[in-house]
Amino acid sequence: MRLDHDRAVTFWICRTCGVEHSERPDVCAICADERQWVPASGQAWATLEELADEGYAAHLTTLEPDLYAVTSTPNAGIGQQSKLVRTPDGSVLWDPIGFLDEPVVQQILALGPVVAIVASHPHMYGVQVEWSRRLGNPRVLVAESDVHWLGRPDPVVETWKGTLELTPGLTLSQPGGHFPGSAVLHWAAGAEGRGVLLAGDTVFANPDRRSVAFMRSYPNHLPLSAAVAERVAAHLEELAFDRLYGNFANVIDRDARAVVRRSADRHIAWVRGDHDDLT
Ligand SMILES: [Zn+2]
Ligand SMILES: [Zn+2]
Repeated sequence: MRLDHDRAVTFWICRTCGVEHSERPDVCAICADERQWVPASGQAWATLEELADEGYAAHLTTLEPDLYAVTSTPNAGIGQQSKLVRTPDGSVLWDPIGFLDEPVVQQILALGPVVAIVASHPHMYGVQVEWSRRLGNPRVLVAESDVHWLGRPDPVVETWKGTLELTPGLTLSQPGGHFPGSAVLHWAAGAEGRGVLLAGDTVFANPDRRSVAFMRSYPNHLPLSAAVAERVAAHLEELAFDRLYGNFANVIDRDARAVVRRSADRHIAWVRGDHDDLT
């Protein structure tokens, strides 16, 4: 049996959420939480090798200059779309997916060194430690308030809170809401200098492309309260951005900062009880 660097460590991936675990509990805590779900068929785990044997492959595509999407076919976990932001001071991998392979690792490294890996919140941890191992061991940043959700602790993990500039013009901050440590990544140079917000699940770019949602649980349809939605919106209004990318292929292409404010006002009015069955 080969015990080289890649194969010496065994870990398991939850087939529902795509998050790596160093042990296999009876049920994935992230999926058992009210914000997620365990399939009717029960908890299922996979190894990275099993997924590769099943034909999974990872892909890198360009979204706009210096911003790339990392996906897999079939979808790993809930099918999130990682973002890779490239800057003159190195790249940052955001919301890492729950699968990787050597070709996509080489494509990413060809764009420059990766200086940090960050998930917006625990649903998006993916195989973040494994990504770090393959990408030259950049630090994996985990929100201090959510660190108890970590399924695969590792020395490469560093906790953070508040605001953190990863490279000049690429800044993490924490509106909270969806999780206490829910983060966004602001990229000042994105959208031809008008600014980009990588929103995670903090706000969700809706299919109408004209509004965003504020939810504690997206799959189980549990809204954030008026007070928390206002707090999140007020945080985001402090940032300069024109385009907002969600953690799937969902995007608000233009005027996204104003969209966030209008959507917050609408959400707050509904959950506060301002409206009845008007139409
Ligand atoms: Zn899970
Ligand atoms: Zn989420």
